[in-house]
Amino acid sequence: MTKYIICLGDGMADHPIKELNNQTPLKKALTPHIDTLSNNGCLGLVHTVQKEFPPGSDVANMGILGYDPALYYTGRGPIEAASLNVTCSENEIIFRCNLVNTKNDTMIDFTSEHISTEESTQLIHELNQHFSQQPIRFIPGVSYRHIMIADKKFLSLNTTAPHDITDKKINPYLPKGHLEEQFYSIIQEANTILESSPINKKRQQNNKKPANHIWPWSQGKLPSLPGFKDSFGISGGIITAVDLLKGLGKLTGLTTPHVKGATGFIDTNYEEKIKESFKILETHDFCYIHIEAPDEAGHMGDHELKIKAIEDFDKHIVGPVLNYQKQNPDTVIMVLPDHPTPCHLKTHTREPVPFCMYYKGIQNCSSLDYTEHNASLTSLVFNTPWELLTSFLSKKPLY
Ligand SMILES: [Zn+2]
Repeated sequence: MTKYIICLGDGMADHPIKELNNQTPLKKALTPHIDTLSNNGCLGLVHTVQKEFPPGSDVANMGILGYDPALYYTGRGPIEAASLNVTCSENEIIFRCNLVNTKNDTMIDFTSEHISTEESTQLIHELNQHFSQQPIRFIPGVSYRHIMIADKKFLSLNTTAPHDITDKKINPYLPKGHLEEQFYSIIQEANTILESSPINKKRQQNNKKPANHIWPWSQGKLPSLPGFKDSFGISGGIITAVDLLKGLGKLTGLTTPHVKGATGFIDTNYEEKIKESFKILETHDFCYIHIEAPDEAGHMGDHELKIKAIEDFDKHIVGPVLNYQKQNPDTVIMVLPDHPTPCHLKTHTREPVPFCMYYKGIQNCSSLDYTEHNASLTSLVFNTPWELLTSFLSKKPLY
């Protein structure tokens, strides 16, 4: 049976950086394994984000997994909720809800200093007690990341991601639109509970920022996606530290095992991630290995850290995958990011990203290393990521 492995370096693509002699982190990083795949396989570009969507990891990864977001995307909140096995009724919608720290109406910290899960779970419990007579409920997640479920009448509100407005006055970014005042009064009521909570009082005594504001965003209905196996004929799994990817797995029937020590950052446990990946391939034919660290480095604007993240990805993920292919020759491998996260912008962009694909017997190899520039030199361009997935699964990389 053919095995299919996608190695996804989140946010890996970038722009030329002055301090790197106008090279990108991908060009500068030593990536012998990815380069082996690229030289001996095909190299091209893929548009992962269609023009009607913002360039988020949610939309991009959904597309790379073979699902057109225009048909299936209902918001980031609902996908993350799926990873927590949250369900709701027809009349309810799901918000992602941060517990944030604000001061003088300014967004100080969208993570409330990475508040502990223990503390935030207690805060969420207090909110639920307060709102027990109203059609509002909260579901605790990890650290500052939670879920809020509310009446579907709030679906059309315009909400803003809290990580995009650090140090800005919050008023222009509070939910706007139909029923905004009614919704805002819920937020204020919640904030009053948070302000007076013993948990936050204790945080302040210990000179920690209180989680004094709820920040609901990216709301939508729970999406319904056809199963991966029904759609593509094979079963598989996703290896990731991130709720968003776990949620996509849950929604598509892909297994998403817990990986010991997976952090979504440079200190993640690569060994365990690879071990769990190969375990998936013992009983399934498809594995999607998602590595978050290059994206985080991009958001921090730290190109040296990004180079390290890419080199680690090459060494600890793509290297072992190449070895796997030597022992299991009927393996198809693809490497790509979901979107660029250019260090100088500290956020995502919507440009097409380089991908490379390799399997035994592939024709027309690129003889090029894996870089953004080299990918643009080949004439291979996929306009949608689901066309790329179909081509990957049918071992037909060229039109
Ligand atoms: Zn991403």
